[in-house]
Amino acid sequence: MHSDSAPVTEALLRQYDVSGPRYTSYPTADRFVEAFGVDDYVHALKQRGTGAEALALPLSLYVHIPFCESLCYYCACNKIITKHHSKAAEYLRYLSREIELHTAVIGTGQGVSQLHLGGGSPTFLNDDELRSLMDLLKRHFTLLPGGEYSIEVDPRTVNTKRLDTLAELGFNRLSFGVQDFDTAVQKAVHRVQPAEQVFELVKAARARGFESVNVDLIYGLPKQSPTSFERTLEQVVELRPERIALYAYAHLPERFKPQRRIHSVELPTGGEKISMLSRSLAKFLGAGYVYVGMDHFALPEDSLAVAKRQGRLHRNFQGYSTQPDCDLIALGVSSIGRIGATYSQNAKTLEEYYDALDHGRFPVVRGLAVTRDDLVRRAVIMALMCQGHVLYESINLAYLIEFRDYFTKEMEALQSLQEQGLVVLEETGIQVTAKGWFFVRAVAMVFDRYLQTDRTRAKFSKII
Ligand code: SF4
Repeated sequence: MHSDSAPVTEALLRQYDVSGPRYTSYPTADRFVEAFGVDDYVHALKQRGTGAEALALPLSLYVHIPFCESLCYYCACNKIITKHHSKAAEYLRYLSREIELHTAVIGTGQGVSQLHLGGGSPTFLNDDELRSLMDLLKRHFTLLPGGEYSIEVDPRTVNTKRLDTLAELGFNRLSFGVQDFDTAVQKAVHRVQPAEQVFELVKAARARGFESVNVDLIYGLPKQSPTSFERTLEQVVELRPERIALYAYAHLPERFKPQRRIHSVELPTGGEKISMLSRSLAKFLGAGYVYVGMDHFALPEDSLAVAKRQGRLHRNFQGYSTQPDCDLIALGVSSIGRIGATYSQNAKTLEEYYDALDHGRFPVVRGLAVTRDDLVRRAVIMALMCQGHVLYESINLAYLIEFRDYFTKEMEALQSLQEQGLVVLEETGIQVTAKGWFFVRAVAMVFDRYLQTDRTRAKFSKII
């Protein structure tokens, strides 16, 4: 069984520093193909049906707001930097068309138990625009009581008054992009936001009854050192958000243009990054946080930690979730959705996205109809990432296979992970150990059929 107090040494972190996907989907988005198009998407939507049965099927919504006022140099997101707020109004008009295309197929009033506004910066939208977006969504879908309604918040774009609006609109979870509290680091990445401002906002969020506050941190940024990052960690622990997401910065300036503005000589060394990760784990676990898995920590009473304890965690494009696995309609430029046994992605540029909608077409440009083999592997990978164990029998029954015959090669590969103490191969299934839980991505990768060559692996970020 895994516990959260397992010693994770720097030597171990170094040993398992291999490239790998985050498995917010399987197959991963780099496997999507252009042969999957609008017709396939509409077909998948139609299969949900439109009657009472379809209305009862759980549904998630993701809305991508691509705009940001200024560029953070570490950014690898799909965003548009602009100070022209008139762009937001135009974008909302197109979102409205995209929503109407959906409800023309699936009907209005589908129950939604999870909504996430991401970006870019959703808080680029002013209060009126956020209000009209939420009105639009509520006119077409039914936001169910008890659902998770979250929004990414750029602390530079909100004040306590804006939090009132977010609460009033029904959001119950906020995610603040912090990255690092150190001023020198903030200047080096062109994202200056005083710590006091974040403290004030989190305090105000608590007073307004938001159920959960998440803070995003990044280690490996320019001007960071283990000592400077330790100070940020101390401030975060003092802030005590319900959830913390801790990501490694991957410097890939040839792939992400903004990163060319980062001076590589200012980046911490690999050894320093490992030290930062190791200190973060020690700090958060020492402060009572539970390691949920894959970059995420939560306070024991937070619903994510509770779901982990109860074996109810799921994983979707936003990371870990407490909501049951369900279809995800993704709206907006570049967003990725999942309907039935398909994945689909919208056009990546505004021009293409608007053009499709001007022609009354869904802006889907690529995707994938997952195969039966993909489904089996997805079930195994998600069980490993979310529950930390796989029962052969449950996979056998669900997919009519004989696990150990179907995965002969993978079982062999797991032997070496067992020798290294990351998993235990039991009579009835695979158990990830306390130590292995911190490297669960390496365990999941064994079952990824597409990761056969080192060349494919090189495209993914390092685990650390
Ligand atoms: S990191 Fe976030 S806020 Fe900064 S430019 Fe990228 S999307 Fe915008």
